Amino acid sequence: MNKRLVILGGGESGVGAAMLAKKKGFEVFVSDKGKIKEKYKNVLINIDVEWEEEKHTVAKILNATEVVKSPGIPDTAPLILQLKEKGIAVISEIEFAGRYTQAKIIGITGSNGKTTTTLLTYHLLKKAGLNVGLAGNIGDSLAKQVAEDDKQIYVLELSSFQLDGMFDFHIDIAMILNITPDHLDRYDYQFENYVESKFRILQNQTDSDHVIYCYDDEEIMKRIDNYKGIKHPFSIKTVTSNGAYSNKENLIINTNNKLYTMTIQELALQGKHNLYNSMAAGIAGKVLELKKDIIRESLTDFQNIEHRLEEVGKVHGITFVNDSKATNVNSTWYALESFQHPLIWIVGGVDKGNDYQILEQLVADKVKAIVCLGKDNTKIHEAFKGIIENIVDAESAQEAVKLAYQFGVQGDTVLLSPACASFDLFDNYEDRGQQFKKAVRAL
Ligand code: ADP
Repeated sequence: MNKRLVILGGGESGVGAAMLAKKKGFEVFVSDKGKIKEKYKNVLINIDVEWEEEKHTVAKILNATEVVKSPGIPDTAPLILQLKEKGIAVISEIEFAGRYTQAKIIGITGSNGKTTTTLLTYHLLKKAGLNVGLAGNIGDSLAKQVAEDDKQIYVLELSSFQLDGMFDFHIDIAMILNITPDHLDRYDYQFENYVESKFRILQNQTDSDHVIYCYDDEEIMKRIDNYKGIKHPFSIKTVTSNGAYSNKENLIINTNNKLYTMTIQELALQGKHNLYNSMAAGIAGKVLELKKDIIRESLTDFQNIEHRLEEVGKVHGITFVNDSKATNVNSTWYALESFQHPLIWIVGGVDKGNDYQILEQLVADKVKAIVCLGKDNTKIHEAFKGIIENIVDAESAQEAVKLAYQFGVQGDTVLLSPACASFDLFDNYEDRGQQFKKAVRAL
C-alpha cells in the first residue's frame, strides 16, 4: 500500500509539501480548517491531490502514515493531540523536504532579526555566484524548491514553531541570533520551553558543523557548550576568537586565524541590532570561504525589506519611521536605542505577555510622547505614566499618525515600533505598516 501523507494547512508550506510528496509517490491529502487561497487550490488541482477546506475530516486524517503540519497550527490543537495519541508522527514541511535534498543548509533562528539576517546571508551567497535557495518563513517553500528546482545550498529562516516539527533535519551552518521572550502563549508561558525549542536548531549537528551565535546573549551562553559543532561567537562587547566582534569603528571577523575588517559606517544596515546581524552573515560568508570583496560589497549594498526601521519620509522636519515588524519588547528596545533625536513613540496592539520594564530607561531618555495604538492600552499606560506626561490613545493608524504629528517639532522622529502583535486593529504587521505609511503620506 502507498504511504499516506496528510498535510494540515494549505498554504505555502503545505502545498509545497504536497508537490514534493506527490512526486515521491505518496498518497496525499491536504486539509485546511480555513479557506485555501485560489492560487494554491489551482496547484493542488493541477497535481491531482485531494484536498478539503474549512474543515478537518478526522477519518481521512487519522489514517495517515505521517502528517505534515503547518507551523501556524499549535501542538495543543485537539486534532494534533489525537494524532500524537495514535502514535502518528507530526512533522514540519522543512523536515519532510530535508529527506529529499543533499544541499548544504544554513539555518537561522532567534527571537529577532531572522528575516533580516536570512535575506542578508542569501544576498551574500547569491552575489558570490552560488546556486542558492531561500526558504523557511520567507519565499517559496523548501519542499517546492526541492521538488522543482533543487539547489546546492539553502538559507532557511527557522521560527521556533518550525523547529518544533523538526527531528532528523541536519543543519550544516546554524545561527542563533538572540533569545528573548516571545510567543510565550504557545509555550505554556514557560520561557524555558521556548529556549529549548530554539536550541533544536543544533540537535543534529556533528563536530564538523558550524554554529554562529551571539556571545552577548545570556540565554545562549548558558547552553551553548552542551552542543557539538565548531563555535563562532559574535559580540559587540568582547573580543571573541574564531568569530566576529567590533570596536567603535570596525567590524572584525577572525575566523580561521584570518582577519577581515570593514568599517561599521560602510554597513548597509545601521543600529546595534543590525551590527549583530551583519556579523552573523559575515561569519557565514567566511565559513563558506567567500571572497573578502564579495562579503564587503554585500554587507554594503544590501537593501532590507519593508517594516523594519524603514524611513518613510519627512513632514515639516519630522521624520516618520515604520518599524511595524517590532512585535515584541526586545525588537522595540533596539529601535528606541538606535535613535538620537527626541521620539514620539507609537506603541501597542496585542500584548504577548510583555514586560515593559526593560524599556523604561530608554523611554525616559528619548521619548517625549507616547501614542498607544491598540484596543486595550492599560498596560502601556501603567508602565509609563510615571515617566511620560503625554500618553494618548488612538484606534487607527491614521489617528495615531495625526496625534503623533501634533506632538512633533522639527528634528523629532515619530517611530511606530509597537512591541505587540497587530491582530486587534489590523490584518497583520504588514497591514499595520502599510496603513501607517499611507497616513504619513496623507499628512
Ligand atoms: P524576525 O524575522 O526574527 O521577526 P526581522 O528581521 O523581521 O526579524 O526583524 C524584526 C524586528 O526586530 C524589526 O523591528 C527589527 O528592526 C528588529 N531586529 C532586527 N534584528 C534584530 C536583532 N538582532 N536583535 C533585536 N532586534 C532586531
